Amino acid sequence: MNDSSSQTPPKPLSAAALKERKTRRKMLVGVGIRLVFFVTMPAAFATGFSGIKYLMTAIGAGESLSMNSFVWTLMGLLAFTFLFGRFFCGYVCAFGTLGDAVYGLSAWIQKKVFHRKKPLVFPDKVYRPLQKVKYVVLAVLVLLCALGSYSLLTGWSPWNVFSRLTAFQWPSAGYIGGIVLLVLIVIGMACQPRFFCQFLCPMGAVFSLMPVLPFSAVTSRSENCLKGCQACRKNCPVGIKPGEDKFLDGECVACEKCMHVCPKGNIHRPTHKIIRHEWVSLVLKAVLFFVMGVFLGLCRFL
Ligand code: SF4
Ligand code: SF4
Ligand code: SF4
Repeated sequence: MNDSSSQTPPKPLSAAALKERKTRRKMLVGVGIRLVFFVTMPAAFATGFSGIKYLMTAIGAGESLSMNSFVWTLMGLLAFTFLFGRFFCGYVCAFGTLGDAVYGLSAWIQKKVFHRKKPLVFPDKVYRPLQKVKYVVLAVLVLLCALGSYSLLTGWSPWNVFSRLTAFQWPSAGYIGGIVLLVLIVIGMACQPRFFCQFLCPMGAVFSLMPVLPFSAVTSRSENCLKGCQACRKNCPVGIKPGEDKFLDGECVACEKCMHVCPKGNIHRPTHKIIRHEWVSLVLKAVLFFVMGVFLGLCRFL
């Protein structure tokens, strides 16, 4: 019979194993937050864009502006982005979460079924110019609103189709254009991380132009980087190397993947000096956003 007092104590975990455990915990927290928002606030992005539509249409028609619920939502999203970066895009927006899920599934199938070592991703010289297309989309939509012609696009919004599907309502025949666009977007999502966010999203265009308070910006120390290491850039869904691609900072969707993969712990936010555990800071932001969302009427269960 074994004497428990003579058993060898368990080996302490290595630094690498501890880091992996922390990373896994943080990723699980991130997935949980995305799921909660996907279920409770699937139409938040469409409501925010309705604020832009309302403002542009009213300005174009020379009407006086009023603070309706769409405008309050837009203001709330912009204020949150100014304070905490694009947390909304990284964790709250259901369309962003759909993009992550579709690309994750596609990468898994490419690896397991087609035995590809690396999943499909557009080359730099293709996706950098494509990132500008979303500003054209935004400009066209704003112009149509200002001219009072937005109704020309009725039935063509993939967002509206998606919002209906998340509410378990099958879109009617009038939405055929939106359905086709949504299918094409999902195919794009399978070929490139954050396809819609990077290239087409008008709200993403607005968010990318927003200033972010310095204490919430993702920054990096590159002086002690491992030679030849590009892990942060290769794992970033929008191809940024934090701290170096200054002009691309607005593209950062605040997903924090670069922090997970950096072997030297070089990437951080200044807020991490105050809140040591990154997952705690994520949860706090999620709670704050949830409270704001409830206040703005974004929660479908209230
Ligand atoms: S860029 Fe657009 S679609 Fe993507 S997460 Fe942000 S608001 Fe949502
Ligand atoms: S990986 Fe880092 S730099 Fe890239 S979007 Fe996510 S937080 Fe931003
Ligand atoms: S992952 Fe870390 S060590 Fe590697 S290049 Fe990026 S910041 Fe440097």
